[in-house]
Amino acid sequence: MLEKEEVTFEEFLDLEGNVYKVKGVSQDKVMTMDSHTHNYVKGYFKRHTLKTDGGCVVATYNAQICTICGTVLVGTLYSTSTYTVCPH
Ligand SMILES: [Zn+2]
Ligand SMILES: [Zn+2]
Repeated sequence: MLEKEEVTFEEFLDLEGNVYKVKGVSQDKVMTMDSHTHNYVKGYFKRHTLKTDGGCVVATYNAQICTICGTVLVGTLYSTSTYTVCPH
């Protein structure tokens, strides 16, 4: 039986280095619960996955975040960093 890898955190950084809390992730343009027009800011979406052997992977994607609802629109993979021992 395989143990699952665990996503331990997700965050969004804009091009100026500001960090935003991610409240949702989407591959497509999303419909919202309320009727606001998304206010997207460009940046990078980071997803940290802890592996069962104690290492981890941080995947960075080109992305946009809506500053109003915190929904990230995930684009193409930008880079992946793999750590033998998680330093985070
Ligand atoms: Zn929004
Ligand atoms: Zn880590």
